[in-house]
Amino acid sequence: MVRTFAVIGDPIDHSLSPAMHNAAFLEARMDCTYIAYRVPRGEVPEGLDSLRAAGIEGFNVTIPHKVAVMEHLDSVSEECSLIGAANLVHDRGGRRRGFNTDMEGFLGPLLSRNVPLPGCRVLLLGAGGAARAGASGLAARGASHIHICNRNVEKARSLAEHCSRMGVSSSSGPLPSYVEAGFDLVVNATSVGMNGGPSPADMGRVSPGVVAYDMVYRPVRTSFLEQAEDAGAVIIPGWEMLLHQAALSFSILHDREAPVQTMKRALVGVFE
Ligand code: NAP
Repeated sequence: MVRTFAVIGDPIDHSLSPAMHNAAFLEARMDCTYIAYRVPRGEVPEGLDSLRAAGIEGFNVTIPHKVAVMEHLDSVSEECSLIGAANLVHDRGGRRRGFNTDMEGFLGPLLSRNVPLPGCRVLLLGAGGAARAGASGLAARGASHIHICNRNVEKARSLAEHCSRMGVSSSSGPLPSYVEAGFDLVVNATSVGMNGGPSPADMGRVSPGVVAYDMVYRPVRTSFLEQAEDAGAVIIPGWEMLLHQAALSFSILHDREAPVQTMKRALVGVFE
């Protein structure tokens, strides 16, 4: 019988996860399929019941359910409890276990480029779920200071407190109009720039060699990345994080290595 997996969220029509996971199933000759399933905001319990009734044993979770799903899990991974959100659920033997692959997914492109994280001075734009995953990963890897800027300053302050509890020096403030010198890594974890919008802060004055990492993955080249590259920064596009977290989700769900190159081709194919 074909085993079915899913990604839940709202909206979910434009999710790139089915393309990556279905390509992986084909490559690995697995009798599985992966679907996008819309669960409206506020309807997580009903959505989870439907998934269980349909025999779906594993599913990714995206906006707006990553935090709400937590209270319906029987156990959670270490990353999940650290971040306070789940982006992957394994429903096996009537018990649901939550995982968070965003943190490792975020770190992957930095580690593969050998970006030195211990001692790194970070400017993090945004204080939502993705920012929390990024901040937790950077704190765990020994960043020396994380300055968090957000439209809602109270949320930035709360995330800075989370970093401090993890033992990392941190501070917070409003979104700046432009990014100044003094950082080794600048991360955009706001949703500003999605679908071709402006950068959340002008990146034109960053120092050459700074790493500029945009979590936004559509378009591939955001204004944030273009401005940073023109200023001489090393840029990391958001699709790389998306690919890393998907590959990790695959290996957790199926207990085998993910065919990363196949998943990458499927993902990049969607953008072309
Ligand atoms: P979220 O929890 O809803 O947080 C959204 C963030 O964007 C908040 O910091 C919010 O600020 C800020 N924001 C939204 N609209 C804004 C505006 N007009 N001006 C200034 N700030 C604004 O969402 P999330 O899960 O953290 O996701 C954030 C982004 O990361 C999204 O674009 C998402 O697609 C992307 N992401 C990418 C990956 C990947 O694998 N590449 C993984 C996860 C997320 P306030 O707090 O002030 O509202």
